[in-house]
Amino acid sequence: MLIFAKVVYLKDQYLYLLMQIIIQPISCSASEFEHNSNGNSIVYSLIQHLLKTFRDKVSIDNSSLQYSSFQISTAAATIPPTYLYDRRRKQWISNRILDWLLQNNNPDDNMKVLAICDFDAYSDELNFVFGEAHLGGRVAAIYLPRLREEFYVRKSDTNKLFKQRVIKEAVHELGHVFGLTHCEKSKCVMHFSNSLQDTDFKDHKFCERCNKILKSRQFKT
Ligand SMILES: [Zn+2]
Ligand SMILES: [Zn+2]
Repeated sequence: MLIFAKVVYLKDQYLYLLMQIIIQPISCSASEFEHNSNGNSIVYSLIQHLLKTFRDKVSIDNSSLQYSSFQISTAAATIPPTYLYDRRRKQWISNRILDWLLQNNNPDDNMKVLAICDFDAYSDELNFVFGEAHLGGRVAAIYLPRLREEFYVRKSDTNKLFKQRVIKEAVHELGHVFGLTHCEKSKCVMHFSNSLQDTDFKDHKFCERCNKILKSRQFKT
């Protein structure tokens, strides 16, 4: 996912600023990520939710700005290079995925990238991660396999639970990108998920405190 700001200048004045989130599917099957308007695709639900969650919280620190907008769209699916894969562990290396995203997209200060990766990954001393982000940085990633009931050999006849988990993890990692650290409140979306139970227990929203911190942050132009 990419958030970037495009500024149009006229007579040394900022006229228009576009904040955009681009969802970047990585190694994802097209069917799950096709953007259709009937609300069935995960990416469609995710976009709706992220718009609701972040639109009113993203403020721009520029008094001469006459108009600004916040948009979310998707990038074409891609696959990462194999040197980011640990053959011994059969997992991808999350912190290297983040570095690769940063290099590949070359985002500026107002650009944030969130990749939706359909493979398992680990990071440093954690033997797996649901997601990872550069705190206050520009890139984040979430990893789908462990969010599926099938991973735990449990049957799921609905996509609803999976969708909710994807949304929670995406909001959580974006929260990090916007500078939020982990929250002690177990219901807050910024609470650290040590297990899937933690993810299922927490809400998809920020608690009052995290909301306040987020709203007090401003993008620079
Ligand atoms: Zn976290
Ligand atoms: Zn919180």
